[in-house]
Amino acid sequence: MPIRVVVNGALGRVGQEVARAVLADPELRLVGAVDLNVSQQYLPAPEYPDLIPLSSNFGALVERARPDVVVDFTRAPVTVEAARVAFPLKVRMVIGTTGLSPADVEEIRGLCRQYQVGAVVAANFSLGAVLLMHLAATASRFFANAEIIEMHHDKKVDAPSGTALATARMMADARGTRFVYPPTEKEVLAGVRGGEMDGVAIHSVRMPGIMASQEVIFGGKGQTLVLRHDTLSREAYVPGVVLAVKEVVQRRELVVGLDKLMGL
Ligand code: NAD
Repeated sequence: MPIRVVVNGALGRVGQEVARAVLADPELRLVGAVDLNVSQQYLPAPEYPDLIPLSSNFGALVERARPDVVVDFTRAPVTVEAARVAFPLKVRMVIGTTGLSPADVEEIRGLCRQYQVGAVVAANFSLGAVLLMHLAATASRFFANAEIIEMHHDKKVDAPSGTALATARMMADARGTRFVYPPTEKEVLAGVRGGEMDGVAIHSVRMPGIMASQEVIFGGKGQTLVLRHDTLSREAYVPGVVLAVKEVVQRRELVVGLDKLMGL
């Protein structure tokens, strides 16, 4: 039996990719799509045999479509509201929406526990980006110096990226102590050494033409090691989301982070 999926935020940049991937996977079945201000009753999917109901009313659509899993790429307040509706109906959630507060995550965890349903929350569904963090943590045990260069499009609101901060934190945890941050005697241009966390200098590049890239440079006597990941399109998130959809149906609690599903 295919896993029945509803995509919340289905007309958004990531939501569209997820909907396409669900349509293409024989183990999954797209049974509904939700977004704001929809002008059609059905999601346009000419090559798909079934009509896929499209609605702006999440509760009504979920009641009608009876999905096993809702994939959510919307905005944090929308996600929390969707969770309050989905879990009592025993519908699992795979949540990629960022900006959830710790209190939001705890509410989702509590609802999972209360209704005995699984959910996955991951700030990064790109398998490569998660692997980079894991490999960087491993390398951190062997190098005392490390710097991160993260690069994103010019519309990104925050700097550094949440992924860069999480990477630096994981690296310092794996190392068990701060990295060596070499002092610069004369900083000719303010900020030129980047921001510093746990001894890791973090540099943020913002420009059009880039989606999301991260490079971690380790230095030791006579050698450097560079780990780099580039997100070239939003398709990068699809394998991670599909993995989470297939895993979440086996779970009865909240899982935070894709790494937990990758056996890392
Ligand atoms: P987007 O703005 O293109 O898409 C969001 C969609 O949600 C829009 O179509 C919007 O109309 C819809 N939406 C807003 N309110 C809604 C509501 N009440 N009900 C239903 N739909 C509603 O944004 P995006 O680039 O697709 O990103 C969406 C979210 O996913 C953001 O929080 C972003 O940071 C996050 N994101 C996460 C990952 C990851 O790997 N976890 C990757 C990329 C983006």
